[in-house]
Amino acid sequence: MISKLCGVCAKSEILCEACSKKLEKGELTESEVRIVRFLSSLEEKVRSLKNAKLETAVETPEEILIIAAEGSGSKFVGRGGSVVRLLTKKFGKPVRVFETSEDPRRLLEEILGPNLVTVGKVYSPEGEFVRIRVRKGAPADLARAVAEAVYRGKVEVVPVDNLRRR
Ligand SMILES: [Zn+2]
Repeated sequence: MISKLCGVCAKSEILCEACSKKLEKGELTESEVRIVRFLSSLEEKVRSLKNAKLETAVETPEEILIIAAEGSGSKFVGRGGSVVRLLTKKFGKPVRVFETSEDPRRLLEEILGPNLVTVGKVYSPEGEFVRIRVRKGAPADLARAVAEAVYRGKVEVVPVDNLRRR
């Protein structure tokens, strides 16, 4: 399995220096590490996971989101949903699997639903970044993690009061 966690760390209990740095910088989260390690432990049983590519995994209090690279989505679902079932059993939450697509906005819409208000590029002296406006009360961490995965870069999440803007 290919993920942000290196192959060695995916199979061990400790983190190498490079992966620790990613964790410090927030490029990787603790829950993502746990999810990647669990998925790696399934590789012997579920062989298709061996060449599956994970963009990111996000855990919220309610659910787990698996964002697969294009072409890997079905591998994380597993035959008849077997991988999703094992994940649900392990982490005790429902699991949704998505694939990054050519159209990142569509993926965001799919995941965030009506919580997504607008998506736009911002050009600043420090470079360009993506600004996502979400409804106030929407899970901002989820929005950020998903947006960073699909846009592969700096993302700003701004909660807005939807009603007042009209
Ligand atoms: Zn590592």
